[in-house]
Amino acid sequence: MTMKQAVLRYLRQNSYIQMIPRAALIDMDGTLYDSMPSHARAWQTMMAEIGVDLPYEEFFRHEGRTGKATINILFNRAFGHDASDEQVKRLYTRKTELFAAMPAVSPMPGAAQMLDFLKSVGTKRVLVTGSGQRSLIDRLNADYPGAFSSDLIITGPDVTHGKPDPEPYLAAMSLAGVHPWESIVIENAPLGVEAGHRSKAFTIGVNTGPISPDELWDAGADIVFDSMQEFADALPLLIYEFLTTLNNAN
Ligand code: MG
Repeated sequence: MTMKQAVLRYLRQNSYIQMIPRAALIDMDGTLYDSMPSHARAWQTMMAEIGVDLPYEEFFRHEGRTGKATINILFNRAFGHDASDEQVKRLYTRKTELFAAMPAVSPMPGAAQMLDFLKSVGTKRVLVTGSGQRSLIDRLNADYPGAFSSDLIITGPDVTHGKPDPEPYLAAMSLAGVHPWESIVIENAPLGVEAGHRSKAFTIGVNTGPISPDELWDAGADIVFDSMQEFADALPLLIYEFLTTLNNAN
């Protein structure tokens, strides 16, 4: 599918006339930072410590859920019941400790180019992360100077329902004062793509991990790229297609 076809399909599916890219709603882990391998290893180690061996890829499919929701899914599968609140707290604290002990994560190659281009065409950038961990959020200004304003950030504690619920993206639209047809969601994870799709924003899946791109398409991505660099290089043409593609079918 070409970018023009992807834009037209999105407009027709939602009965929109045109996509005006006023705001980009951008995920953090696995999108702006190459942090998912460390998160996945921390989850895998924590679960192994309580006797549950799971494959590394498993954790890429839970990305975007709250820690509690992920722990309960894994508990139900392994033990047939939810974890107690005390277990959730202890296990999530342990996972956070393991993550903190991993080597420092790097900015995702291509992400700075993507943010610079969005800024140059006047598209607002809104950070939308399910994470409440300050370590990466606090690094954003150093790694991506001027890319995010401190009043355009939605984090885990700001929402009642995390991804795959559309609430984080709807909250971001409200914060930026934009409609769904004025919003681009940029996501690496299937559950995040699902949240973007359900918010009716134009949802871009950027596949930065080990899972199949088909999982991003199946989650409702309007278009999928195989890396952040590929997306950053394609972004000028994608913006051009937004501005020149009209849905004349109505
Ligand atoms: Mg992510």
